[in-house]
Amino acid sequence: MSDLRTTVATACRILAQQDLVADVLGHVSVRLDTDRILLRCRGPQDRGLLFTIADDIREIDLDGRGDLDGGYAVPNEFHIHTELFRAHPEIKAVVHAHPRDVVIADLAGVELRQTFGAYNIPASRLAHRGVPVYPRSVLIRTPQLGRAVAAAIGDAGVGILRGHGVVTVGDSVEQATMRALDLAELSRISAQLTRLGARPHTVSDDDRQELPDLGSAFNDSSRWRHYTCRLQGAGLAL
Ligand SMILES: [Zn+2]
Repeated sequence: MSDLRTTVATACRILAQQDLVADVLGHVSVRLDTDRILLRCRGPQDRGLLFTIADDIREIDLDGRGDLDGGYAVPNEFHIHTELFRAHPEIKAVVHAHPRDVVIADLAGVELRQTFGAYNIPASRLAHRGVPVYPRSVLIRTPQLGRAVAAAIGDAGVGILRGHGVVTVGDSVEQATMRALDLAELSRISAQLTRLGARPHTVSDDDRQELPDLGSAFNDSSRWRHYTCRLQGAGLAL
């Protein structure tokens, strides 16, 4: 359990170091069983996502009740996590972040097309599958809104909340975190192409066949190690 808390806290730090969250906004969760999760909560001395500690990761149920000793509170938007876990029993982890690059690209109407391939296969495949958008920019602070977000994301694994941020899910904290990084990279490249006035062809069917899923050990685990080493290099590892 303490390892899992450290993993969730590390995900928060990676997202912050990679500019996917600003200061104190955003959270990560992982499922423990059918109706219990670990969620990044807010303590009275909260220093923001980049400085998340394992103690910030609290066990709660899907109604937001649980171990909040020490003055901790669940985030306002915990319903994003709980309603996704309710709607999709197979989901193991959820990330909610506010990446500026994704929000701006979406607000600018930039299309997330599959314009690149082996440069970043997971992000390329994300573009091909399509990224759903939840069109309201509201704070997700009720179960109803949480259900609407979960319905908008469906089985896509990722989604954009217009004027707000992103939600990604996964089989693991590592996978949900890497999907958030991939979505940010896809948005950055798409926006930059638009700024350059370019509208390249999308990847051809033939080429798409040669963009295999390289598997979780490569896409998630090895990249997770890389980003935790980056934290270490910056003196930010847990
Ligand atoms: Zn939010």
